[in-house]
Amino acid sequence: MDDLDRAAERIEAFNQVALHLVLSRMSGPQSSGVCRSCSDLIETERLKITPNTRFCSDCANEEEARLRRFRRNGRQ
Ligand SMILES: [Zn+2]
Repeated sequence: MDDLDRAAERIEAFNQVALHLVLSRMSGPQSSGVCRSCSDLIETERLKITPNTRFCSDCANEEEARLRRFRRNGRQ
């Protein structure tokens, strides 16, 4: 039981760091227009909506899904 509690605490702390990273990434300078993950050009439409994005929509969706999975696991 104690081990489980400690693991849950660690996951919670890690979630907070991850969330902070995402938020600080979002408030950065304007995007270079190139995806940081796959090096493809980021869609013009996407840049209009989120001028400081670092990922193309494919990679952003993946990143989002990963974070969502992560958050869900942390709440168990
Ligand atoms: Zn990409």
